Amino acid sequence: MVDRVEVLGVPVDCVDMHGALDAVDLMINSGKPNTIIALNPEKVIKAQSDSKLLGWLRNASLIIPDGIGVVVAARKLNQVNISRVPGSELMPNICERSVSKGYKLFLYGASQDTIQKAVDRLTERYPGIQIVGFQNGYLPENEMPDLIDRINQSQAQILFVALGSPRQELWMDNYLGELHNIRVCQGVGGTFDVIAGTVKRAPNFFINIHCEWLYRLLSQPSRLIRQTALPVFAFKVLLAWLRK
Ligand code: UDP
Repeated sequence: MVDRVEVLGVPVDCVDMHGALDAVDLMINSGKPNTIIALNPEKVIKAQSDSKLLGWLRNASLIIPDGIGVVVAARKLNQVNISRVPGSELMPNICERSVSKGYKLFLYGASQDTIQKAVDRLTERYPGIQIVGFQNGYLPENEMPDLIDRINQSQAQILFVALGSPRQELWMDNYLGELHNIRVCQGVGGTFDVIAGTVKRAPNFFINIHCEWLYRLLSQPSRLIRQTALPVFAFKVLLAWLRK
């Protein structure tokens, strides 16, 4: 479908936002379930030592370059045409496209308050949107068969899973095979929180200078441990680039 390259041994697709949306249309008509996974530097470093995560990425139909670090590294190491496709922007763009195409959507993840607000906001923002079901992300495992039945009966073709990473990738790996109508399943992390307004996205200034990660770090210092992967990633990319 799209060209796939590797950054430090981890695959990523050479797409921009238009390409990603066109890929979604192809997935809808593919007759099989497809996963969309977002890749950022933290995930690259994790996948280098986590064969399960690497396997999920390799099997994904679309790996979007979610972080600017991945985009810069892919350009430097592979000389490819690739642009940032934040998962938190692709998801509402898929919602918008679904209105004109008639795609049905199911949302799974986040707290009850957040998902309810996210559904309300999306319904206001995209009149005609068909959100055929939703479920908060704190369902006990023994109730999972009921959720799978509800998703199947809803006839949704697109499922957004917002459980955080790698919980959402694990969920997709466990259950996608049982979802008979789903054609597109995107792991969207904290996107429902952003849509609901419970977590603010970075101001445009930070987005424009490609420092959204810095804003998230400053506003949620608890993410510091996770962000220690960033200097490791930068160092490894530099080494790989010098070797080239
Ligand atoms: N979450 C959930 N169920 C869980 C754990 C987390 O639904 O068992 C939700 C949580 O409420 C939040 C999202 O998963 O909405 C995690 O967001 P985060 O920003 O950590 O995700 P990231 O994109 O960084 O992986």
